[in-house]
Amino acid sequence: MAAGALVAGMLAGGTPHSVARADPLAADRYPNGRIPAAVLCPIGQPGQSLRCDAARDFARMAGAYRAHFGRPLLVTDSYRSYAAQVSCRARKGSLCAVPGTSNHGRGLAVDMDGPAARCGTPEHAWLQLHGSRYGWLWPPWANPTSGIKPGGECWHFQYRTTS
Ligand SMILES: [Zn+2]
Repeated sequence: MAAGALVAGMLAGGTPHSVARADPLAADRYPNGRIPAAVLCPIGQPGQSLRCDAARDFARMAGAYRAHFGRPLLVTDSYRSYAAQVSCRARKGSLCAVPGTSNHGRGLAVDMDGPAARCGTPEHAWLQLHGSRYGWLWPPWANPTSGIKPGGECWHFQYRTTS
């Protein structure tokens, strides 16, 4: 009976991410930038989270990156709430998407930190070469040489979408 109560308590309490584990795409049920933290998954860096399948594959990519370079793959940004998108747009202008349209607001984008964030580094080249194996893509519009977006965004990678 005591054991039964304990199990029942564990089921009731669960963990914040038990819902997300049950359905990795749970984040898609919410509007851009309005995804509850409980249905996102952490990526092992303070304050950073993504849709759960993106988080899982980011972790796999980061593991391979670390094995290759001997350093962690760090990000400055991942999921971005609607309020944070408004703030980003206000501070950085066209460097940030129109609020409510960012892939960050869907939990499907990261901004790399350090050498991985800079075009022309071995780290960036590695991500271009191996990222797609994990579903992580550097979209053509982010490439400064494409001329799609002035200056590009060398640091911005997206999960299974290039738009
Ligand atoms: Zn970004």
